[in-house]
Amino acid sequence: MQPQDRPVAVGACQGSIPLEKIRFCVEARQFRNRPNSHWPRDGGAGQEWIDEEVLVCTDDLSLSALRRDFHRYPELGFREFRTKARVAKFLREHGLEVHEGVGVVGVLRSGAGNRAIGLRADMDALPIHEASRHAYPSETPGVMHACGHDGHMAMLLGAARTLAADAGFSGTVVFIFQPNEEHGLGAQAMLKEGVLERFPIEEVYALHNLPGAPVGQVSTRPGLICSSESLFEITIRGQGGHASMPQTGRDSITVGAELVLALQTIVSRKLPPGAGAVLSVTEFQTDGQRNVLPGTVVLKGDVRARSPEDRDDVETFMRQIAEGVATAHRVSVNVDFSTEFIETTNAQGPTEAVLRAARSAGLDIRSDRQPMSFSEDFAHFAAAVPGCFLLLGNGEVGAYGQPLHSDDYDFNDDVLPIGVAFWTELVRDRLPVQERDGK
Ligand SMILES: [Zn+2]
Ligand SMILES: [Zn+2]
Repeated sequence: MQPQDRPVAVGACQGSIPLEKIRFCVEARQFRNRPNSHWPRDGGAGQEWIDEEVLVCTDDLSLSALRRDFHRYPELGFREFRTKARVAKFLREHGLEVHEGVGVVGVLRSGAGNRAIGLRADMDALPIHEASRHAYPSETPGVMHACGHDGHMAMLLGAARTLAADAGFSGTVVFIFQPNEEHGLGAQAMLKEGVLERFPIEEVYALHNLPGAPVGQVSTRPGLICSSESLFEITIRGQGGHASMPQTGRDSITVGAELVLALQTIVSRKLPPGAGAVLSVTEFQTDGQRNVLPGTVVLKGDVRARSPEDRDDVETFMRQIAEGVATAHRVSVNVDFSTEFIETTNAQGPTEAVLRAARSAGLDIRSDRQPMSFSEDFAHFAAAVPGCFLLLGNGEVGAYGQPLHSDDYDFNDDVLPIGVAFWTELVRDRLPVQERDGK
C-alpha cells in the first residue's frame, strides 16, 4: 500500500471506492507511524480519535469490516465516544435522521403508516484483557468486546442500511444504540433523557448473541426471559481489639461469617423450591490484621431473581437476618440493596412476531427457551413498552462457543447477515406496507 492511498473522506466520496482502500481505512493500525492527523495520536490505542477518523465511505464497507473495527476499538460504558461517532456517521450516511444524546438514535420513516417500533443494540465493552489470536484484537489494553456488542451494533446498522435502501415497510423504525449495558445504567439514562417521549414507539426489540447455540438459531419465550440483578453491601460495625483478648471487643469477623451462612437459607429455606433465585456473597472485607480483631466487616454480593416479588422477599429476609444476627452479637449493621437490572419480560404479541420473522428469514427456532440466569439492561425498555428479547446462536466451536465475558470469546461474523435478515423481516412484519401507501 502506497502513501498516496490515503483513506477517502466521506465528503469527497463519490460512489464506490476500491475495496482494498476501504480495508486500508479500517486497518488503521497500518497508519501508526504516519504523520496524519486523522489517525490516533497515541499510536493506535484509540484514546485520541478525532471525529474525522470515521472517514470510510460506509456505502461499501462490509459488515464484518465494520464489526471488526468496533472490536478493535472497544470502549467502556458511558465512554463510548468513538463508537457513538461511528454509529451516528453510518446512520447519517444512509439517510437516517440522527439524534445524539447519551446514546444514538436513528429514525427511518417510510410510507403512510403511523405505527412505530424500536430496535435496540448495545455499544459498550468490558474491562477484560483480550487473549484472542485473531487478526483484529483490541487496541486498548484491558478493554475488550467480550459480550458481542460489536456484532449487535454491526447487525443493526446493517439492517438500517438495508431498510434505507429498500424499505418494504410503512411506518417508523427507531434504531436505538444504548451505552453502558454491562452496568445496567445505559437504558435508564436514555429513558431519563426522554427517548420514548421524543420517539414514541409501540413495541421494542433487542437480541443478544448466544455462544454455544447453533449459528443463527433464534430462541426466546413469552414472559420472563432474563433474571434481575441486585447488588448488596452489608457493613457490620463491632469493636476492634487485641487478638489475644476477644472478650474486650466485639469481633465483627465471626458475625460476618455467621451472616454469610445464614444468608444462604434465604434461597434454600425461605423461597419456594424452583424459584430460580441465586444469592452469592462475593466479597468479605475486614480491617483486621494478623493479631488485630477487625472492628468493621463489609460483605458484598449479588442476587438474581425471576420475579419482583422474589426480589423483594430476598431483600426483606436479608435485612431481617442481618439485624437479627447483629442484635444477637451486640454489633451494628447496615444493609444496602440496589437493583440496576430488573427482570426482562417478553410480551406475547412481540414474541410471536419475533418467531414469525425468524421463520420467514429461514432460521432455526426454539420457542421454549428457559429463562436465562443473566440480566439484561433491555429490561427497562421492555418494562416501558411491550417488547421481546431474543437470543441468536453464535456457534458452538472455537471462540464462537466460548462463554460471554471470557477473554477468548469472539462474535461470529457469519451471524451478521443472519441478524440483518432477521431485523429486516421483523420490521416488515410489524410495519407492513398498506394499500394507502400506493404499492
Ligand atoms: Zn455482557
Ligand atoms: Zn451483552
